[in-house]
Amino acid sequence: MNTSPILLEVKNLKKYFPIQRGLLKRVVGHVRAVDGVSFAIRQGETLGLVGESGCGKTTVGRLILRGIEPTAGQVFYRRDGELTELTKVPRRRMKPFRRDMQIIFQDPFSSLNPRMTVLDIVSEPLRIHGAASSDEMKVRVRELLEQVGLRVQHMNRYPYAFSGGQRQRIGIARALALKPKFIVCDEPVSALDVSIQAQVLNLLHDLQKDLGLTYLFISHDLSVVEHVSDRVAVMYLGDIVELSPSEELYATPRHPYTEALLSAVPSSDPDVRIKRIVLPGDVPSPSKPPAGCKFHPRCHYAVDLCSSEVPTWRELGAGHWTACHLADQLKLAGIANT
Ligand code: SF4
Repeated sequence: MNTSPILLEVKNLKKYFPIQRGLLKRVVGHVRAVDGVSFAIRQGETLGLVGESGCGKTTVGRLILRGIEPTAGQVFYRRDGELTELTKVPRRRMKPFRRDMQIIFQDPFSSLNPRMTVLDIVSEPLRIHGAASSDEMKVRVRELLEQVGLRVQHMNRYPYAFSGGQRQRIGIARALALKPKFIVCDEPVSALDVSIQAQVLNLLHDLQKDLGLTYLFISHDLSVVEHVSDRVAVMYLGDIVELSPSEELYATPRHPYTEALLSAVPSSDPDVRIKRIVLPGDVPSPSKPPAGCKFHPRCHYAVDLCSSEVPTWRELGAGHWTACHLADQLKLAGIANT
């Protein structure tokens, strides 16, 4: 169990996007993209954040990095031994935090400027932060390219000359340039071929070990998250519905939505056949979320109470949290860890 100090804490984080109509752009409602999310990540830990597309997980990443401002809630980050409320730091004082907190994007094709060489791309954060002279920059870029498994001779090439996996390595080198402590990995392998995914995941794992990094690993794919996360948080319609140590979540899920997601994970054992749970209907609109448990219109186990009362977020075992009225009664199917 990781007993290191908490590096990042998110408390009751909300992001509601206004829906505007008409010439006067009158606000007629809100899309509740993130609807009161709380979690903490310890130093050196990887927290996986999973859910279907549109559940709010990428918005959580952007809120943490202050790419967008929250509607409510707090984000705390530990720097120089002290937890600071990031959401209260004036933008002009964010620079030291921005050095510490970086992001790896999903799409290695659109996230790299095609007109810039690898040298320019990887050294860009150093330039913006005035963190190195031009000679130092070259030395640092060389070091970074070696660290991510790319050839130093390629630093004057343009992104088009590289494969998807190599481009993602360039993106990782750029994220590491300022020696960050915390990285949001936003679907970092979902645009890559399956054969390349494992190489990039192994690289992220090795970098974490060597550099003591802490990750928030966002993905829609539970089979990817399983291999990289110490704990996993499952999101549905702007809420976290389950949070647990990774192994336990896969073996004994306690929320019906997690069970349904797990049933879609292909088994590595050809003799094991998992019965796929097909959820009825579509994900409801985050602008009009259902009353009570937001999952109740699609839940196979729903009872009357589920449509009227919001389930309490509670701890069922050491570090295993969920929000389901029936969590104590249901025996849900997990999958054996591979
Ligand atoms: Fe299903 Fe009810 Fe649990 Fe929600 S609270 S997940 S509807 S059983």
